Amino acid sequence: MLVPTMGALHEGHASLLRQARTLAGESGTVVASVFLNPVQFDNAHDLSTYPQTPDADLNLCRTCGVDIVFMPTPEIMYCNNRSIRLEETVLSEVLCGARRPGHFAGVCLVVCKLFNLVQPTDAIFGKKDYQQLAILRRMVRDLDLPITMHGAEIVREDDGLALSSRNVRLTPEHRAAAPSIRKALLAARDAWQKDSAASEICAMVRHELESIPGVQVDYVELRDADTLGELHAASTLGLLAVAAYFGDVRLIDNIELPTHA
Ligand code: AMP
Repeated sequence: MLVPTMGALHEGHASLLRQARTLAGESGTVVASVFLNPVQFDNAHDLSTYPQTPDADLNLCRTCGVDIVFMPTPEIMYCNNRSIRLEETVLSEVLCGARRPGHFAGVCLVVCKLFNLVQPTDAIFGKKDYQQLAILRRMVRDLDLPITMHGAEIVREDDGLALSSRNVRLTPEHRAAAPSIRKALLAARDAWQKDSAASEICAMVRHELESIPGVQVDYVELRDADTLGELHAASTLGLLAVAAYFGDVRLIDNIELPTHA
């Protein structure tokens, strides 16, 4: 059972590690990878300011019952003249993929390499990165990788902010305002249940977030949760996904919206 992470581990990661321990059982082996993958960063500042806490990460892995921690350097993971690209070409065209060129190709490359190196029977990923999970499921399906994929629910602070390694970079003002994302998504779910139109709901969330000083919305979109394409009459589950800059910190969050059956 493999749990891939980029380190600076928090309770969201811990939840994945504990679920992995349970799924693997006493006889199974839980491997956590901790690797800040440079190839998936489309922004040099984001990479250079990404928090790194290797000692605390090892401790957390220990307390979550992890058997092996794989903590490679970029030099171990990548040859200087690597020349293979691994690109998912449909699900990656929208949401974060449309705004972060090369990001999901970098994610697919590193996760495929980790799968080959560790050879897990199972892997677990968080729904916080909903699009990433969908793309990696597609990679496993289309490349016939013999791995069972598991999706884990989003872990939040008490005030609703989704845990993220980037949260420590928020200013105190933006940290205080950031739970507005969750509040706006919950209000959107209420509006959805009362039959508001998708466009109205997205506009409402955008307006809510843009009223916070220093916040710039990257996108608010309601899509089909399975295909990430347009929500349509036959969609069984919607996904309302948000990305917004709080200062220079990009936060993402989402909520599943069951369609009216
Ligand atoms: P990262 O280290 O950000 O690449 O995340 C490693 C894994 O942890 C990914 O599968 C993420 O989706 C998952 N993850 C990160 N934050 C959370 C969270 N707040 N709740 C659940 N899973 C999370």
